[in-house]
Amino acid sequence: MSTPWRKEFLPFSRPDISEAEIAAVGDVLRSGWITTGAQTAAFENEFRDYCGSDGAVAVASATGGLHVVLEALNIGPGDEVITPSLTWVSTVNLLALRGATPVFADINSETLLLEPAAVEAALTPRTRAVIPVHFAGVPVDLQPLRELAAKRGIALIEDAAHAAGTEYCGEKIGARGTTIFSFHPIKNLTTGEGGMICSDDSALLERVRRLKFHGLGVDAFDRAAQGRSPQAEVLEPGYKYNLTDIAAALGRGQLRRLDEFIARRTELAQLYRELLEGMPEILPLGLPEYSFRHAWHLFVVRVASERITRDDFMAELKARNIGTGLHFRAVHSQHYYRDREYSRVPLPHTAWNSARICSLPLFPAMTPDAVRDVVAAIKDIF
Ligand SMILES: *Cc1c(COP(=O)(O)O)cnc(C)c1O
Repeated sequence: MSTPWRKEFLPFSRPDISEAEIAAVGDVLRSGWITTGAQTAAFENEFRDYCGSDGAVAVASATGGLHVVLEALNIGPGDEVITPSLTWVSTVNLLALRGATPVFADINSETLLLEPAAVEAALTPRTRAVIPVHFAGVPVDLQPLRELAAKRGIALIEDAAHAAGTEYCGEKIGARGTTIFSFHPIKNLTTGEGGMICSDDSALLERVRRLKFHGLGVDAFDRAAQGRSPQAEVLEPGYKYNLTDIAAALGRGQLRRLDEFIARRTELAQLYRELLEGMPEILPLGLPEYSFRHAWHLFVVRVASERITRDDFMAELKARNIGTGLHFRAVHSQHYYRDREYSRVPLPHTAWNSARICSLPLFPAMTPDAVRDVVAAIKDIF
């Protein structure tokens, strides 16, 4: 097919790495200390301050972070954890691996955010935690979930993989409660691979800090010891999910530019919304009514057409040199999960959206003209 819109392929996402960040990584590589050390400690402090949180622990991925949080909360066999099915598979995988039971609650069909009423309806005496997702960079309605969690004595673990920089009612995500961020390359801030656990529960953070590094009572790096003290004690068996200083140096530079990235994403997203207005086949997500700051991690649309499926729509865009993403296919429809007892719950909004959602290109270095190209290609498809 000819591509009058794009000569070059437009990826759905592209990390924005500056020369200063590359130089900072080079400095770490030349320094003689490349694993968890002073850079990681500084990144933890700077991220904690950015969010206004009490404490932060850097990890190798959000998935690893959730693993150690679930372990620290002793969530396992016999325990139920409420989560959306329209999320990344890692949450449900970890629940399955720990022998806990995922309980899927439906989402709001327009925002894709977990509905507090659906969470309430899914509660049982076995419920130990709720893991909502701040989908696409929009916060879930935290107030009712916080009240519910406090009343029932259950944990609220926020999946903030999309939400670095997101605010809920004037407060940054991460400022309160227990929150897990991802720094995977498509996320708003990247360290290559990486994540951060923020929490106002200091005992939980202390446990997480040792579980993410062999169960040792200290980090790899101890300033006083000029490295790790070889006498460090194993307090309990732990994992190996520490973030390297190579990654942290990149993260520190990215964090300084996070607000700039979000401003760019916001401009591009607003242009998409204007240009797509009045197209009945392409429905952008709805936005909640409470006060929030959108981090615009993703620009998700629903392909609501009788003539073309979402998968064909993605193929048509690809034929026009435009990449797209799929965030996400409902977890309960995946091979391993679909025949499980817990997957036999009605999730009409999840199912409807799972079949129709598609993420359009959105990244800080994208130009407004590229947004116009995408919309022109979409109009051509229809
Ligand atoms: C990316 C993502 C994760 C996992 O993050 P990793 O750092 O890759 O482990 C978890 N949840 C959601 C919603 C995500 O988008």
